[in-house]
Amino acid sequence: MGRQSYRLSDIDFEANAKEGVAIDWPIRYKDVAPWYSYVEKFVGISGEKLNLPQLPDSEFLPPMEMYCVEKEVRKRIEKNFPGRVMTIGRVANLSKAGEAQLGVGRAPCQYRNKCSLGCPYGAYFSTQSCTLPPAAKTGRLTLRPDSVVTEILYDENKKRATGVRIVDAVTLQPKEYFAKIVFVCGSALGSTAILLNSKSNRFPNGFGNDSGELGHNLMDHHFRTGASGVWEGDLDKYYIGRRANGIYVPRYRNIGTDKRDYLRGFGYQGGGSRTGWQRNIAEMSFGADYKDELTKPGPWTMGLGGFGETLPYHENRMYLDKNEKDKWGMPLVVFDAELKENEKKMRIDMMNDAKEMLEASGLKNVRSYDNGSYLGMAIHEMGTARMGRDPKTSVLNANNQVHGVKNVFVTDGACMVSTSCVNPSLTYMALTARAADFAVKEMKRQNI
Ligand code: SF4
Repeated sequence: MGRQSYRLSDIDFEANAKEGVAIDWPIRYKDVAPWYSYVEKFVGISGEKLNLPQLPDSEFLPPMEMYCVEKEVRKRIEKNFPGRVMTIGRVANLSKAGEAQLGVGRAPCQYRNKCSLGCPYGAYFSTQSCTLPPAAKTGRLTLRPDSVVTEILYDENKKRATGVRIVDAVTLQPKEYFAKIVFVCGSALGSTAILLNSKSNRFPNGFGNDSGELGHNLMDHHFRTGASGVWEGDLDKYYIGRRANGIYVPRYRNIGTDKRDYLRGFGYQGGGSRTGWQRNIAEMSFGADYKDELTKPGPWTMGLGGFGETLPYHENRMYLDKNEKDKWGMPLVVFDAELKENEKKMRIDMMNDAKEMLEASGLKNVRSYDNGSYLGMAIHEMGTARMGRDPKTSVLNANNQVHGVKNVFVTDGACMVSTSCVNPSLTYMALTARAADFAVKEMKRQNI
């Protein structure tokens, strides 16, 4: 998980309905806001308050500091482009450990930026550091590793799910587990594959698939376009530690009076850094002076990379191969999905705006790029079991509950009705907590 953590806003929740795209979200910001707060206080999100309608503030731990070049670029973007803001990334790394985090054995970030190796301090959010330890402490958690869930079991008489069938990843033996409630939260594509593979007389086309929408409306963000340049000056300045975070420019396109020839918008992630010894690798030079030069940091550079919203298109889909199976007996997943005109038009702005902002900020040698993006590349897959009010056009209701089966909930990216342009994990966490609360209450009311 890249750990960038942003809330969706009502601009996102209302966009489909206002623009007549796909179907309306069955919820609004006010329905999720308390649950964002709930998970943020537990997870720990570092960031800066901005009071922007398009990017509601979280419950923040102290923000990380911007580097000198970033502070300068921020000032100049805000001066030259009214309505655009640059802020430090909102990130699930503990800039300070509060009681909730210390209580589960986590410690503050050491700024070594070795997060990709796993964090021995539990300083960034992960299931291993943050959610599993307190769950284990309850004494009611059984973790069953090496379990490939292949199917949700359904009782036709009771009209309920009764549990799941798994295949042991090592022994390849099947086994069944039984439960009162099943939460499917195996990532959008994993969860949808399990649902599609769970067939019965009641659900011949996949679990809960009365609408025929299961597997459709596949979305992802599109990215890999932007610009970077060189900042001349501040060569006497460096930074302490290795900040595990970058900067963020929230969406500004199609907000307020801004109107483009495409729908929705994009944000930028990026940051400043000083180039290292690798900068001269192509020189193929030698000698003491040359080596001495390489021990010093090179010039500052700064980059902005866009993350754009992708619209939900019914024809963008995943399905299960009829013949081929993997080692564990699961049918292979097949994708048939593409970016379309709206995203292609947006990418032109994503590239050109980045160049324009960096040039206006005084960077030199600014180069823009579009390295192309395909659905799946940004690993923010969403939408294949969407929420909605009408069981005829959606798989889940407003509480992430399968319309046709009350004791099954799907709470990962599959539930999303649109993508916004922000990183989605925080929203999955908030929706999962909200659905879990709903499920407990429904059980107590004996509705499940
Ligand atoms: S830099 Fe990353 S790995 Fe290191 S302490 Fe911080 S969160 Fe953990």
